[in-house]
Amino acid sequence: MSNQSSYDVVVVGAGNAALCAALAAREAGRTVLVLEKGTERKRGGNSYFTDGAIRFAYNDINDIRQLIPQLSDEEADKIVMPEYSTNDYYDDIMRVTGGKSMPALANHLVNESYQTISWMKGHGVEFELNYSNQSFEKEGQFHFWGGLPVKTHNIGMGLIKALFARAEELGVDIWYSSKAIELKTENGKISSVIVDQSNQTIEISASSVILACGSFEANKQMRSEHIGKDWEAAIVRGTEYNTGDGLTMALALGAQKYGEWSGCHSIGTDYNAPKVGDFTKPGDIFKKHSYPLSIMLNKEGERFVDEGADFRNYTYAKYGREILKQPDHVAYQIYDQQVRPMLRKEYNLDEATYYQADSLEQLVEKLPVNKESFLNTIAAYNDAVEEGYYNPTVKDGKSTKGITPPKTNWALPIEQGPFYAFPVTCGITFSFGGVLVNTSSEVLNENSEPIAGLFAAGEMVGGIFYENYPGGSGLMSGAVFGKTAGTSAARYVERKNTNIPS
Ligand SMILES: Cc1cc2nc3c(=O)[nH]c(=O)nc-3n(C[C@H](O)[C@H](O)[C@H](O)COP(=O)(O)OP(=O)(O)OC[C@H]3O[C@@H](n4cnc5c(N)ncnc54)[C@H](O)[C@@H]3O)c2cc1C
Repeated sequence: MSNQSSYDVVVVGAGNAALCAALAAREAGRTVLVLEKGTERKRGGNSYFTDGAIRFAYNDINDIRQLIPQLSDEEADKIVMPEYSTNDYYDDIMRVTGGKSMPALANHLVNESYQTISWMKGHGVEFELNYSNQSFEKEGQFHFWGGLPVKTHNIGMGLIKALFARAEELGVDIWYSSKAIELKTENGKISSVIVDQSNQTIEISASSVILACGSFEANKQMRSEHIGKDWEAAIVRGTEYNTGDGLTMALALGAQKYGEWSGCHSIGTDYNAPKVGDFTKPGDIFKKHSYPLSIMLNKEGERFVDEGADFRNYTYAKYGREILKQPDHVAYQIYDQQVRPMLRKEYNLDEATYYQADSLEQLVEKLPVNKESFLNTIAAYNDAVEEGYYNPTVKDGKSTKGITPPKTNWALPIEQGPFYAFPVTCGITFSFGGVLVNTSSEVLNENSEPIAGLFAAGEMVGGIFYENYPGGSGLMSGAVFGKTAGTSAARYVERKNTNIPS
C-alpha cells in the first residue's frame, strides 16, 4: 500500500489498542492508515512504557505453553500454575472497581482475553513468564499467584516493536507527527479525518475511524477540570500525547461520555522523575513500592496513611492519591539499614533519588521539612512499635499501638544507620474517563445508538475501570477492544461498500 488520501479504516493512535485494531482491520482485507501524534522515536503511547504485564484467563500450564512454546518440559515440571478462570478474572475486575464495571464490557474483556492473546502471538508478539513479580519458590517449585503469570518479551518496548513490525509487514500505512484534530461526517456517517501533520492541515477520506488515542491523563487542564485542581501537579508516568483529543473529537460528534471521568489510576513515584514519561527510559522504573517496610512523612513531619495496611498490590494506587494531597505534593519514605537490603529493585537503579545519613538528625538536616516535627514523629513511631514476629512475606500483624494512623503490619523501629529518605510524589498512569461503546467497539451516542463508522478501543473506552484496575488489564483491554474494533470496522466498511444496511 502506498500513502494515499483515502482509506477504509483510519486508526487514531499507535499504542497497543490502535495497532491491534489496525492488524485486525488489515487482515480482514481493508486499507488501513495509522495516525501517530508522536514522532517515530516517541511512538507507542503508554503501551511503550509498560512492564508488559498482561492479564488473561487460562485453565492451566498447557494454555500458557501455547503462548510460550519455548518453555521446556523440564521447566514446566517445576511450575505450579493454578487456574485463572474467566470467572476469577471477572470477579477481580468487579472487586477492584467496587462492582461498578459495566458487566457487558467486563465480560467481553475476560471472555475474549485468551483468544486475543493467542491471536497476538500469531502476529509475532512474544511472551515470557513473569517469575520475578508473580511467583515464589518453595521446595524447588515455582508457585505462580495472582492470575498474572505472563508479560511481553522485552516489556512494553518489545510489544510495540513487534506490533509495528507486523503492521508494516501487512501493509498498514503509518504516519508519524500526525495529530488527528477533527472527525467529519456525511449523512450521519464518518467520512473523513482532519490531520495536523507537522503544522500542515490535511483531510483524509475515511470510511471508518477507530479512536485509540488514550484518555486525558497528559492534559493538565482536563485533569484539573475533571479529577480535581491538585491533579495539575501530578507527574505523567507515560506518554505526553494522551491529552484527550480522541474524547474531544468523539464528544463533538455526539458520543456518550461514559465511565469515571473524575477518576484515574496513580501511584507513588520518584519525586524527581521526569514530568512526563521519557521515551529514552521506558519501563516502570520510577515507582517506589517498598513503603510497607517504611513509614512515610510529609513536609510537616506527619504520617498520613497506614503504610502496612496490606500488601502493596492492594494499597499503592490509593496511596498515590494520598501523597498528592500532602503539602507541595511530596512525602518521604524513611528506611534504615535493617530493611534497606529488602527494598524492591527500583530502589537500586541509577535513576532512584534519595538522601542518606548516618543518623536520623543528620538525615533530617538534609530535607526541606519541619525538622523538629519530623524527628518527633519518628520517635513516637519507634516508641509505638509492639513486640512480635517480623515477616515481610505474610501479613505479620507486627504493628504499632497508640499512634494515628497506626501501622498494622511490618512495623520495625527505625534505629539502625545509615538512614535513607526517598522523596515521592504522585504519578498518574491513566485517567478512567471515556466514551460508551458496545461489545462491537462501536461508539454510542446519547441515545445509546452507534455513530455510523466510529469505533473506539483502549483507554478511550469508559466504564470498565473505576477507582482501580487489576494489574495487566490495561493492555488486555486495549488488545481485546482493539481487535474487536478492527474487525467491526472492516465489517462495517464491507457492508457500506455493498450497500448492506448495518
Ligand atoms: C509506566 C506505566 C506502566 C504501565 N504498566 C502496565 C502493565 O504492565 N500492564 C498493563 O496492562 N498496563 C500497564 N499500564 C497501563 C497501560 O499503559 C494502558 O492501559 C494501555 O497501554 C493503554 O493503551 P492504549 O492503546 O489505549 O493507549 P496508548 O498506548 O497510550 O496509545 C495512545 C496513542 O494515541 C496517540 N495519540 C494521542 N492523541 C492523538 C491524536 N490526536 N492523533 C494521533 N495520535 C494520538 C499517542 O501518541 C499513542 O500512540 C502502564 C502505564 C504506565 C504509564
